[in-house]
Amino acid sequence: MTWLQTDPSHCSSESPDQVVRRFGGDASDGLEEAEARKRLAEGGGNVIDVQERFSPLRALLHQLIDPLVILLAVASGLAALLGEVLDAVMISIVVALNVGLSFFQEWRAERALAAIAGLMTPHSTVIRSGRRQQISALELAPGDLVEIRRGDRTPADLKLITAEALLMDESPLTGESRGVRKAPGADPEGAPVHDRASMAFAGALVLDGHATGLVVATGVRTEFGRIAALAGSVQRLATPLQRRLGRLSAKLGGLAILAALGIMLIGVATGRPLLEMVFTGVSLAVAAVPEGLPAVVALTLALGVRAMARRNALVRRLRAAETLGSATVICTDKTGTLTTGEMTVVETLTAQGRWEVGGGEPDTLAHATLYSAGVCNNAELCPDGAVKGEPTERALMLAALEHTTLDGGAPPDRLAEQPFSAERKRMSVQVRDGDAAMIHLKGAPDFVLPLCAHLATQTGAVKMDEAARRDWTEQAEAMGRRGLRVLAIARKAHSDADLIEHDLTFQGLVGLMDPPRPRAGAALDAARSAGLQVIMITGDAAGTAEAIAQAVGFAPGRVLSGAEIDALDEDGLGQALKTANVLSRTTPEHKLRVVRHLQTAGEVVAMTGDGVNDAPALKQADIGVAMGIRGSDAAKAAADLVLLDDDFSTIVDAVREGRRQEAAIRNFTCFLLATNLGEVLAVGLNIASSAPLILTPLQILWVNLLTDGPIALVLGAERAAPDLMSRPPRRPGAPVVDRTALGVIAAFGAASAAAALAAFQASMVLSSEAANAAAFSAVVILSACIVFSFRSQTLPLARLGWRGNVWLPVAALAAVATQLALVFAPPLQALMDLAPPSALSWQIIAGSAIALLIIPEAIKYLLQARRRR
Ligand code: ATP
Repeated sequence: MTWLQTDPSHCSSESPDQVVRRFGGDASDGLEEAEARKRLAEGGGNVIDVQERFSPLRALLHQLIDPLVILLAVASGLAALLGEVLDAVMISIVVALNVGLSFFQEWRAERALAAIAGLMTPHSTVIRSGRRQQISALELAPGDLVEIRRGDRTPADLKLITAEALLMDESPLTGESRGVRKAPGADPEGAPVHDRASMAFAGALVLDGHATGLVVATGVRTEFGRIAALAGSVQRLATPLQRRLGRLSAKLGGLAILAALGIMLIGVATGRPLLEMVFTGVSLAVAAVPEGLPAVVALTLALGVRAMARRNALVRRLRAAETLGSATVICTDKTGTLTTGEMTVVETLTAQGRWEVGGGEPDTLAHATLYSAGVCNNAELCPDGAVKGEPTERALMLAALEHTTLDGGAPPDRLAEQPFSAERKRMSVQVRDGDAAMIHLKGAPDFVLPLCAHLATQTGAVKMDEAARRDWTEQAEAMGRRGLRVLAIARKAHSDADLIEHDLTFQGLVGLMDPPRPRAGAALDAARSAGLQVIMITGDAAGTAEAIAQAVGFAPGRVLSGAEIDALDEDGLGQALKTANVLSRTTPEHKLRVVRHLQTAGEVVAMTGDGVNDAPALKQADIGVAMGIRGSDAAKAAADLVLLDDDFSTIVDAVREGRRQEAAIRNFTCFLLATNLGEVLAVGLNIASSAPLILTPLQILWVNLLTDGPIALVLGAERAAPDLMSRPPRRPGAPVVDRTALGVIAAFGAASAAAALAAFQASMVLSSEAANAAAFSAVVILSACIVFSFRSQTLPLARLGWRGNVWLPVAALAAVATQLALVFAPPLQALMDLAPPSALSWQIIAGSAIALLIIPEAIKYLLQARRRR
């Protein structure tokens, strides 16, 4: 068990061999599978639980220290002291139910988010028993041999065994965001963390190169010591909408308390008993403040995040769920996002002519071209014969294995490599070729042809002049216009010197096909009708990009190249972006500039990305979207949203869900405000007159429990309205309750208050208990009716249909049935101090219920008809 007692900080000053011995590891075959599992069981997984755990006790306390709850507790204690024991007990029960409901909502929200964190566990490449495999990073054990490469996040503290041009971003650990070079070796004794060049620390990102390292510390024992960023969790910072709603609640709270105080004073001044007035005032304040709102909003957002996860969109930051609804522009990659990413080689074009796959054996030059494409290639050959890797690499490797003499089991020895990057748009390798060496290079034709001095022909290499280069460039463009991704292949024989990419011999062009994703066209249409601008940003050539854009379903628009973007100033770029929907031959820097520009023009931008260099643009975007399958850890760490299926249509689905949530939150906020206003108006006007009390404190609290709780919750689960994706995006930061909504709230509030007062008066002839019951029933039944109007602010119920919210009629009927039971069932009657109201009161209630159901519908219908005209 020496590995368990080893202090990982000593490993930096030891040689790799010493460390491997100490950990009982193996620098080439890794740990035995069984040994790794044993170590995991003994030492625990690679997990640090620093995520703030949901503490039920703390959440409950949080609910209990709410000033309004305290106020009510004090008031009911006072009542009990003064002999009103039944009232005091009933009020305590209703308050407890309220607290319980809020607590339950918070708990469910937390559960929904915690389940999503489990989906974000990163994977790492480990070598065990000599086999390379992908495992969850949480299952790494000390002594494991791990591979890291460009884009990865280091899963544990590693002592480097081999490293190739390794450049790390250790900012999560040291705050220093510039890349740090790392290499195997031994560091000076006692070197500070940022000087330990022989170590790769957990949490650091690989900016370039690749390495293998031995795990010396996992979980809590790592320097980074914070798995949260590693395992991923949903960031729960309050979203802008939550903050805005919080401010709205606070303002309304202030107003409500003032109103309650005023009503109390008026009551006392007009000779009502002090205790009754204190109670009424406190209950009214409780009723008027939409204190249930934050809990319902949090739950709606959390359930929305879960719904998005089910549709393959993982929200990493809660704020993104909400921003999605206001997105105005989506900038998207092409390969794998709009297309399937399943590339296949379809043809080659060489000095010998065109050779097509399926057209027999390749001719000599086609063979040479494909052979080079297979040698200059980083796709991985698995023992079971499968080929893994980036789509272009994989397609070329498969073609080379099938149509050339390349032996996958024994490829030529590689001496050096200049890797592919989005900036260089080419890669090259130098391999052993008999006693000499040979360079093979592949890349974008416009980047490769200028490096070529010769052209391969059947009779040998001939000089390639400017005219020939132009001719080949045109041929490549023509292939691109047919929707093919085109790569140029070149070689240089007898090249024993360094890997220098010039004076090459051009072999030929390879054309690859990548079909559009089946759902992309429909998603583009949906985005268009939702007023979203979609811009394809690709590294591919203009012709290919345009052809694919058309095949996928983009409207014809301008194609803007990276070079053209460079030549434009900000004004020019703004003009160009108004008409351009395809950006070709771009680099990640172009993405960043385009996002920034669109944002200053007031757009809300969703931007996709997968590589390390995409991280700045993803961070800058309002919604950074990383690819779950193809994306690097670096991109995922920078993103707000991760697409589990890499599919463009998932972004549009997520926008739809974002809009749905936003509309739902707006709708139930307005509903709560309308019902609260109704109660405050009814009680206020009643007290100002000298009639007996219209609603007892207990009744006010009961109504509040119903509306703030189940009814609002069910309203929040409303499905996406049919017109949700045919409206333009909502302005970000637009008030939750705008002027129109204020008018609607005022109208509903006034109407239900008037109905409650009228019903109250109509039963006064019987008794004050009957009058109470009438007003109480009016408030509950009308709330259960008007909630239907708040399902959509624009569409009438006839267009929404019932299936959009099957639970709402159930909740409304349950509220009405409970109300009838309270009024008519003798034991409940006694508890609530009620008596059956008069027939006239019921007629008033029924009449206003029907009016409040029909009138808003008629208005929406007329407005819709006018809009359509
Ligand atoms: P997309 O938006 O379609 O995902 P991208 O921005 O990722 O595209 P890149 O992968 O950077 O595009 O490719 C840009 C160009 O570089 C391609 O048109 C191709 O000519 C060349 N290229 C792509 N992959 C490779 C590779 N593995 N080796 C050499 N050249 C490549």
